[in-house]
Amino acid sequence: MSWSDPTPELRELDPLLRELRHDLHRHPELGFEERRSQARVRDFLQSRGYQPQSCAGTGLIADLHPERHGRAPTIALRADLDALPIDERTDLPHRSVHPGVSHKCGHDGHTAILLGVADLLARHRGHIDGNVRLLFQPAEEGVRGGGAAVMLAEGALDGVAEIYGLHNWPGFPKGQLHIRPGVVMAQVTSLDLRLRGVGGHGSQPQRCRDPIVAGAHLVAALHPVLPRDLGADGGAVVSITAFQAGNTHNVIPESAHLRGTIRAFDRDVHERVLRRVRELVEGNARGFGVEADLQLIPGYPLLVNHPECAAAVARVGRQLLGEAAITSAGLPIAGGEDFAYFTGAVPGAYFFLGAGRPGQDTPGCHHPDFDFDDDLIPRGAAVLLGLVRERLPHLLARPGGSMTEAAR
Ligand SMILES: [Zn+2]
Ligand SMILES: [Zn+2]
Repeated sequence: MSWSDPTPELRELDPLLRELRHDLHRHPELGFEERRSQARVRDFLQSRGYQPQSCAGTGLIADLHPERHGRAPTIALRADLDALPIDERTDLPHRSVHPGVSHKCGHDGHTAILLGVADLLARHRGHIDGNVRLLFQPAEEGVRGGGAAVMLAEGALDGVAEIYGLHNWPGFPKGQLHIRPGVVMAQVTSLDLRLRGVGGHGSQPQRCRDPIVAGAHLVAALHPVLPRDLGADGGAVVSITAFQAGNTHNVIPESAHLRGTIRAFDRDVHERVLRRVRELVEGNARGFGVEADLQLIPGYPLLVNHPECAAAVARVGRQLLGEAAITSAGLPIAGGEDFAYFTGAVPGAYFFLGAGRPGQDTPGCHHPDFDFDDDLIPRGAAVLLGLVRERLPHLLARPGGSMTEAAR
């Protein structure tokens, strides 16, 4: 078997990885609760000669050549472990056994891909110069805060020269790999607004300060203001996703609670949008005589691909999947992703594997009917292995060779 073409070995490994993915799918766990998943991954890695270490509580770090870490270039590869608080609606044989929790983003598949990579790397350990660090990250979905920032704070990227990660994406056609340099996913801020007025009888609005009318005007104002403010380039979105007020037909309530999300592909645009939201909320409160308590809660930062790393992904993708499969179409995506913390710390790239089946309306990530497409397991593993094969010799050949600045 050859390290330069892992295809036959990945094919041989495929049934095992599918079975593993289905097992993870059956037992989904929310962020920072991935104890069973962590144990499964740990067992798999140990059986392949790794010595995985816990990180961020329920995450794991495993080095291919721990003795070389810090002395030779290290390339890191990341998978996420967590599931979502969504009820599984499918009747798949591997459907979730936990009501209200399911793998609706495909992190079970990402984990299976990285375990395939781990297996192949271990088989060819003797032929691989430098070090490969495998990161199994908890809590990407950020239901209780993101795991990447915690791993970073615990030193997961110390001595790492480059990092790569991927996401399946049913919105892109199956067989394609989507990559671009620069921004690939949005900067996210959550909005939480409480409007407090004066409640009273539904027949007596003149004696009240109605938070529903104030809130309704605000929502109506927010959406048209942004396109006018940002001009033709746009590049930002504000969605009010919750509006709660009152509980009966003849009482004007005292308060209203609005929540929403603000996303942009540029830090300056993001700041501008936040400023305009604050101004609109203040103006609205003044105009309607209500008190506004606005919280703008920072979410994940902008996810920015390093040009050299993005070019490497495109090159490797082209070799493996063909010229026509590589595209930047559909990027950037307005979703948030905490891989952004990693690429904020070291050069790296994040790419998308299309999962949309031709002629079908394939359920997207976070949809209750979603299921990870197992065909992506060997494809994703092949691309990550290709990156190791291409980038490690390149990093070793840099001035400073086996002891680069980045690896120190
Ligand atoms: Zn997700
Ligand atoms: Zn995801």
